[in-house]
Amino acid sequence: MQISAELVASAADARDFPRDRLPEVALIGRSNVGKSSLINALVRRQVARTSAAPGKTRVANFYRVRRGAVFHLVDLPGYGYVRASRPGSGQGGRDAAAREFTRLTEAYFSRGSGIRGPGSEEARRIPDPGSRIPIGVLLLVDARHPGLESDLDAWAWLETQPCARAVVGTKADTLTRAERARHTRELESMFASPVPLVSARTGEGLDELWKTIANLPSQTAR
Ligand code: GDP
Repeated sequence: MQISAELVASAADARDFPRDRLPEVALIGRSNVGKSSLINALVRRQVARTSAAPGKTRVANFYRVRRGAVFHLVDLPGYGYVRASRPGSGQGGRDAAAREFTRLTEAYFSRGSGIRGPGSEEARRIPDPGSRIPIGVLLLVDARHPGLESDLDAWAWLETQPCARAVVGTKADTLTRAERARHTRELESMFASPVPLVSARTGEGLDELWKTIANLPSQTAR
């Protein structure tokens, strides 16, 4: 199957999100989970910058992808990266990291859905159901580390959003056969959902992931 992909927007702010109303599949996950590598593996070219490249910034990258249909693949900022927390700040560093993740991500998910911060100008507007862009979300989790609190928190938060969602375990190539079986069991029990494993390095699971992606936005068109 022919695939084309190009970066169409790198948005530091909701104002920079593209305005053409293509269906979207968003990817979220902890920093270093392998999101950029997976995007590159899916579209079979280097469109996304991986961690090895300097200057990776906290933006939402929109890729226009054609694979049969045309849609946006959206690379949202990673969460859970460690910030130097000030002495005596307790959970402050973690909270700050969480805030940074949520700012752009919340802006992304609230687009057109009428869900806004309380008291905001947008909250007072009547939401237009017809303006909602169908969005499906893939939560990427590192298959080596099942059940990280931040991943479970992200999944619980996604449940509150009007979008279809699926969990995917990355870096499957790093696991032994026994670990694959055990980690898949653990992941599926924690997320109460199927958790297919993929590897950007070997290409394992990518065909199945394309099928999941193809079905995601249509599930949201309700
Ligand atoms: P991002 O921060 O989520 O975009 O993560 P990157 O795609 O930049 O990858 C983070 C690190 O994980 C890099 O060192 C990658 O080489 C490595 N990585 C990504 N995908 C895989 C994979 O499928 N298998 C293995 N073994 N390593 C991977």
